[in-house]
Formats: sequence, structure tokens, C-alpha cells
Amino acid sequence: MTNRTKYVFVTGGVVSSLGKGIAASSLGLLLQRRGLKVCNIKLDPYLNVDPGTMNPFQHGEVFVLDDGAETDLDLGHYERFTDQSLTKHNNTTTGQIYNTIIARERRGDYLGATVQVIPHVTEEIKNRIKRFSQQPEKPDVVIVEIGGTVGDIESLPFLEAIRQMELEEGRENTMFIHVTLIPYISAAGEFKTKPTQHSVRELRAIGIQPDMLLCRCAQPLDESLRQKISLFCSVPTDGVILAQDVPTIYAVPLKFYEQNADAQVCKHFGLDTPEPDLREWEQLVEKINYPKKRLKIAICGKYVMLKDAYKSIIEAFIHAGAYNEVEVKLIWVSSEDIKQHGADELLAGIDGLLIPGGFGERGVAGKIEAIRYVRENNIPFLGICLGMQCAVIEFARNMCDLKDAHSFEFYRDLKHPVIHLMADQEGVTELGGTMRLGTYPCVLDEDSSSMKAYGTSEIHERHRHRYELNNAYRPMLEEKGLKLSGLSPDGRLVEIIEVPEHRWFVGVQFHPELKSRPTNPHPLFRDFVKAALEHNDEMNEVSVETNTNSTNEHSHEAG
Ligand code: GLN
Repeated sequence: MTNRTKYVFVTGGVVSSLGKGIAASSLGLLLQRRGLKVCNIKLDPYLNVDPGTMNPFQHGEVFVLDDGAETDLDLGHYERFTDQSLTKHNNTTTGQIYNTIIARERRGDYLGATVQVIPHVTEEIKNRIKRFSQQPEKPDVVIVEIGGTVGDIESLPFLEAIRQMELEEGRENTMFIHVTLIPYISAAGEFKTKPTQHSVRELRAIGIQPDMLLCRCAQPLDESLRQKISLFCSVPTDGVILAQDVPTIYAVPLKFYEQNADAQVCKHFGLDTPEPDLREWEQLVEKINYPKKRLKIAICGKYVMLKDAYKSIIEAFIHAGAYNEVEVKLIWVSSEDIKQHGADELLAGIDGLLIPGGFGERGVAGKIEAIRYVRENNIPFLGICLGMQCAVIEFARNMCDLKDAHSFEFYRDLKHPVIHLMADQEGVTELGGTMRLGTYPCVLDEDSSSMKAYGTSEIHERHRHRYELNNAYRPMLEEKGLKLSGLSPDGRLVEIIEVPEHRWFVGVQFHPELKSRPTNPHPLFRDFVKAALEHNDEMNEVSVETNTNSTNEHSHEAG
């Protein structure tokens, strides 16, 4: 469309967690719907090479890409909003930059020069931003999100690099968007613009003048406040965009569009584009905001206090819920509580159970108990990665009578290691980037819930694990009724298990949540929610019947 790639830089100020990732994704969607080829990238200032080795409490979910890169969870938002599959080049960290520079220095590539933050680190940052414009299918617009908050010491080289890019690429090809917070002080009954003024001043001290401000606020702001922000921050009033809290993140692009944010970006770059077609997106938001029914699905995991650890699962349920026109209310159950209080008490009244991926033994006993409960009570179940492995352990213990079945991940000296280390993981000692990562093919059994869901027998899904179902136990598990409904094409790895007599019981070794898209929900999540809806309908029928028979019975509560 244009011959020179344009760059939008998204920075954040005042506090973290303002939704820079959602803002960058929303803008990506709007520009894409205007017919532009968009590429979202994230620069993370931390020193880790990637978030793969970080604790989910520190970092939230690790989002795995097709090529196996373990990336920041914002990449998940980019993929979901712009419906594109990204690569390792879309996420860069300070760790990667220093890795490259130090390797180069050791090779002697710097020819005796002193290696410094400016110019060497900033050059490497710019190269990583610009490499997209050197591809044959180059994007019209690259949206670059800078992690962290303006004022952090570690983000300085990144801000310096993008400042230099304005000089090199030209003002008409670069645009700076700053996401800030306008707090409401209830004692004074007022919104406060001072933190935004300070944050913009900090940016300007570095040499960056924002072209647009995205102001997060809990309620609508007065026009006079917008003008005040505009005046103090030297941003035209039109460029002061309100990013008011909305019930669903999928409404954010619509709010930006109402305020012409995307039109202003195009104007800044001199791009003549048609109005975006947002009908599909509007329908999605409508379905999310006005569900016909509410279901309760329990998620039983180790990090239930920290929802960011399960970001893609939460989003996948929103997509599948919108498709089925229901709201999926997630009930977060700590696996350790199940161990203490029992599944019958904590899971009573649920319409489905999801056990997510995880590492380490803590909470596994509770997960196994939760799986027993839903298997025996015909309640829909989806087990992901560790969740699938727990389902195999549960089945081995309770259906195959292997009481001490367990995973080799937790104990080395096991009588029945029904989950074992994958052969190619033997001898691996380094933690970072060494799991079975990324997309692998899987062949489905023709007669299975998975085949029904996908509608095709060869699928490709993303993985992140070291352990697998132990092939030595396959005959026994199958004999007792476990269906191995998805295998690697060479038949050596079990990727999906099912319990065929059950209403809907599926465990997958991969992570389907990573490929769910708002207007194209993942087939397994879609069918899992559908099965939960059927379960809910049936339970309601039962409760209506029992209510008419006996007025003393409690009716089953649907929502
Ligand atoms: N800990 C298990 C393994 O490494 C499961 C991993 C996961 O759930 N992502 O195989």
C-alpha cells in the first residue's frame, strides 16, 4: 500500500498494567481493517532471554508461538486481535539483545571498539524493529510496544532507540502514543491530570513528544479536562483519547474508533484508507455483553489467585462463550483446597471442569480428585497438558487399579510412572527453551469428540512440555476404556485422550487456548462449552422435575 514502513511506538506512563498491550492490539485491528498490513511487536526491557523460565506469579502466562518461542502474554493479545500467527521476532528482550552483542564481541566483530549502550545496544534494538521492513512481504505499519513504564532505568535504551528512529525514519513515518492513567480521587471528587503531565514531561526530557495520549480512566472525562491535558502535554485535543474502563477488552477497538484514533494515525502518516468494517467485531461485543445464559466452569489450578497466569484460557472461554451465546462464569478452585475439603463439596453445581497446564507436584492430588469427581458424575472435562497428564493418572489409579500410578516429573522411583520423560528430553539439563515447544501435527481418531470438534483428521497445535503418556501403559489404559484419540503422525506420542462413555471428557497434551481467536473460537473450547451447556440444560430439567415432585428440594442454580 505504501512503500515506506511506518512505525507507531506505544509507551506507558504513571503505573504499569494500564493495558498497553490491549491498546496496541486494538490499534492493530483497526488499521488492519482499514486494509493495512500490520505487524505488532513487543520490546521487553528485562534481562531474561525470554519469559520461559519466569514464575507465572512474576510474569503471568508464557505465550508459546508456532515456532516454539516462549513469549510475553501481550503477544497473545496481538494474535487474538489481529488474527495473525506471530514469530519469535515479534518479541525481543534486553536479555536477547545483550546475548547477541556479547557473542559478537567475543567473535571480535567490533574490531577493538569499546562496546557501549549507545550506539551498540540502541543499534541492535533498532535493527530488531526495522527487520520487518526488510522482508519481501513487508508491513505498512509496525506497532512497537515498549514494556515497562517511562522512568524505569531498564527501559531507557529502548526509549533512546525509538527517539533515534524518529530522526532516521522521519516524523511523517513515526508516531508516539503514550498510555497514561487519569486517577479519580474520591475524597476530592475529582480526576487528576498531574501524573499524566509528569509522565509526559519525563518522555519529553528523553526527547520524545507524544503525538497521542490514551488516557485510562474509570469514568468519562469532561471536555474541559481533555483540553487541560492537551494544553499541558502539547498534544492536540483530538489526540487525547479516552480509554475508559469497559466490561470487555474486545470493546476497546470500538471505543478508539468512535474517537477517530485510527483515522488520526492514518492522517499522521498520510495514508489514505477506507473506513474499517467492524460489524463482525460489534456482533462479538454484543454477544459477550448480552449472553442468553450463564454456565459455571471450574478451573482448578495452582495459581488461581493470579488470573494472568491463565490469560489465554480465560480469553478462549470468552470466545467459546460468545459463540454459544452464554457467559462462562469461571469458578477458580485452588487444587490444594480440594485436597482439604474434597471435590464433592467444592465442585457441586458446576457445568464443567478445566484443569490447566502446570509444573511441579503441589496441588496435583487435588486435581486428580477433581477429575475423579467429574468423570464419575458425567460432567464435561477438558484437561490441558498437566491437566491431561493428571487425567491419565486418575484413570490409571481408579480404572486400572494402579494405586500408585504417578508422573515421573514428581518422583523418580515409581512403580507405575504412567507419565514419563520424553525420550529426547533425557540428559537435558538447561531449563530455558529446552522443552518440546511449538507446533506439532497430530492425527485424530475418526470416531472421537476431538474429530467431531475439529472436523478434520490432521491438526496442528502448540506444545510446551517435557513429559508424555508412558507408552508401556497404553494397552492397559485402552483395555479399561481410555481412548487415545490423537497421536503424533508416527504414532509414538499420545496427544489426546478421551473417555468415550462420558458426555465430553477430553485431555490434550498441547495448549489449545493459544490458538483461540475472538471470532473463531478454538474447536475444543467451543465444544466443551457446548457440552457444559447441555449438562446445564439437563440439570435444570432434573431440578424442575424434582421441584414439582417435592417442594422441599433445592432447585439447581444455573447462574
Ligand atoms: N509439567 C508437565 C510437563 O512438563 C506439563 C507441562 C504443562 O502443563 N505445560 O510435561
